[in-house]
Amino acid sequence: MTTAEILAVGSELLTPYRSDTNSLYLTAKLNELGVDVRAKAVVRDDRDAIAGALALALGRADLLVLTGGLGPTADDVTREAVAQALELPLNEDAPILESIGRRFAARGVPMPSINARQALVPFGAEILPNSQGTAPGLWIEHRGRVIVLLPGPPRELQPMVDAHVLPRLRRLTGDRVLRRRVIRMAGRAESSVDQAAQPVYSTFAAWPIPIETTILASGGQIELHLMARGRADDALDQALDEAVRQLTEVLGTAVFSIDERPIEQVVGDLLRERGLMIAVAESCTGGLMMGRLTQVSGSSAWVVGGTVAYANEVKVRELGVPASLIAEHGAVSEPVAAAMAAGVAARFGAGVGVGITGIAGPTGGTKEKPVGTVAIAVWQSSSRSHVRTSVFVGDRDSIRGYATLAALDMVRRLLE
Ligand code: ATP
Ligand code: MG
Repeated sequence: MTTAEILAVGSELLTPYRSDTNSLYLTAKLNELGVDVRAKAVVRDDRDAIAGALALALGRADLLVLTGGLGPTADDVTREAVAQALELPLNEDAPILESIGRRFAARGVPMPSINARQALVPFGAEILPNSQGTAPGLWIEHRGRVIVLLPGPPRELQPMVDAHVLPRLRRLTGDRVLRRRVIRMAGRAESSVDQAAQPVYSTFAAWPIPIETTILASGGQIELHLMARGRADDALDQALDEAVRQLTEVLGTAVFSIDERPIEQVVGDLLRERGLMIAVAESCTGGLMMGRLTQVSGSSAWVVGGTVAYANEVKVRELGVPASLIAEHGAVSEPVAAAMAAGVAARFGAGVGVGITGIAGPTGGTKEKPVGTVAIAVWQSSSRSHVRTSVFVGDRDSIRGYATLAALDMVRRLLE
């Protein structure tokens, strides 16, 4: 059992309003068992379309997972399509019918007759109980292939996968696993990261336990993903540890995490270790940095608060930025960012202050200060403070995102 395909069934998934997320959950879980997802498809609620896609996939993969279309309504036809493709008769399963009846009885409602369809089971299928809804999942072993049918709603699918699918799969995959490590970086360009890392990771393919490396960049953050397959034992972890060690050595201070922590968590952990609280004054990011910091559970231990200081008069009145500084240097300038950082720390009684001021665009740029110009300051004391101006390239959303990450990274570097 090493290859899988996923078929997401649902006409709504072919509209711009809904996307298939079940396959992402499934892929993560299958990968942990060393099973590769080779292809996935989204198919409309149509019996022939589903049966056709299934027949194709059956020729290519050991495991086929279908999600959705197990409901009671006429457009839910996954069961019928699978029975058709596998040429298996569908029979009503009395225990399922009873358990659906009990679910309705518990809520004091009579069972609608259409729900009886959910008790139809292709011959030989095993039932996967649904703790969150009426549609049971199905596990079918057929001519050396495994076909799994799961309900569409993620809150029904996920517990079913964990409780009933993964234990069955583990029996078939043995102790083969796929392990992943992620090295996260900020403050360095993708090409520069790759130039430093490539000579190191290019040797990994020839190791006794080969390691695959992928580089991913988004929103200014760079990630190196390392992947190794094999038996679940110490050697696999040791190989990955060694690869991470060799890479972090050449990547230096750009690396902020090797343990899946996002940067706001790393910043929070550093603040906690140093016994410091943070306050943030944001102009062009409009609260995005505060949003990210307070996304971390337990952040009240190290976040005091902040100000969205958009108008100049708010920078002056709420943060104590001298009006003369704004008049002389402009609102988007290093002196103003520095005064915002020191001011918000003083006003909020925080040990660390951050000031962000910039031009997110697409309007408002000038020759001297083009769209994307952002001044960011971090303040810890008058002798420990930094201010920097960057020119980010992108649309408004991207520039605001880059500025937020850059500010988080400056705090991280100051505290490290
Ligand atoms: P139900 O009994 O709720 O009808 P079902 O198995 O028939 O269950 P669907 O009708 O296909 O499932 O989907 C129900 C809801 O689940 C959809 O409206 C959608 O919001 C969500 N859903 C379905 N498939 C997916 C998917 N692949 N990824 C994420 N969400 C999905
Ligand atoms: Mg449905």
